[in-house]
Amino acid sequence: MGIVDCHCDVISRIWRENESILANRGQFDVYRARAAGVSLQFCALFTDGQGEATLRTILRQLDKFHEELARYPDDLYMVTSYRDIETNRDKSAIGCLLHLEGGEALGGEIEILRVLHRLGLRSIGLTWNKRNLLADGAMDDGSGGGLSNLGRAVVKLAQDLGMLVDLAHLSQRGFFHVIDLADKPVIVSHANARSLCDHPRNLSDEQLKALAGNGGLVGCTLVPEFVATKSPGLSDFIDHLVYISDLIGTEYVALGSDFDGVDTPVLTDVSQYSLLEPALRARGFNHEEIDKILKENCLALLKRVLK
Ligand SMILES: [Zn+2]
Repeated sequence: MGIVDCHCDVISRIWRENESILANRGQFDVYRARAAGVSLQFCALFTDGQGEATLRTILRQLDKFHEELARYPDDLYMVTSYRDIETNRDKSAIGCLLHLEGGEALGGEIEILRVLHRLGLRSIGLTWNKRNLLADGAMDDGSGGGLSNLGRAVVKLAQDLGMLVDLAHLSQRGFFHVIDLADKPVIVSHANARSLCDHPRNLSDEQLKALAGNGGLVGCTLVPEFVATKSPGLSDFIDHLVYISDLIGTEYVALGSDFDGVDTPVLTDVSQYSLLEPALRARGFNHEEIDKILKENCLALLKRVLK
């Protein structure tokens, strides 16, 4: 089992550009991911909008994924249960776990979540930065809002169905609402430490401690604005892994690249993930800690949350 990464936007991108997941001109494809040692990738379905058209776009992205899955059965598999991971452990296919980045597509109708679950969705983020019917987003933080009643119901249903709840992009208040509510571990799929880089999408020490208390994890991300304010590089990214490990423990740290979600990630594309292990070793992480960050923490969480 190789690297597990908690966030990328390859599906939205190849849908938009009419390219393939196997090989493409973006930052992530199966060939490069496999060569860099990636074996499981969370893939977001994303569109920035509200209303009816949002659901249609998400469904078309889902269709794109299923078409690719049918075309390349030896290279791709869909993660819907922990058993899927175990069955494919020794194969070279890359596992994809589908994530809905923002609850706008539900349009306030919770049954839609059940339908998307039947189509393979296994992770949901309530908001993408802005306020919607479920919650306030991270970039709306000044309003002080958290979850609506519908947002709470969505969290409960998602966890009952065996879906991950992803707190990236959620307001601070919403974050703590979910932590109070959750009876399973949650994730923050792509964010860093706010103490090192003061951005509203990064997590405060208080949030990081609450996340550890919940048994969740944070996928440290290569989004340059979340890594450092001045010329962010790989060592600045490793600083976040070191800081969070020191604050709450290595068992709550994972990776969430955001490949294909930003123009210039701190590592240019997934092939550069091969640089990570030596960089972590050089900064004093031992073999066991590196294994936890690169894969084991996330696998352990999936085992607890997925059905
Ligand atoms: Zn995002």
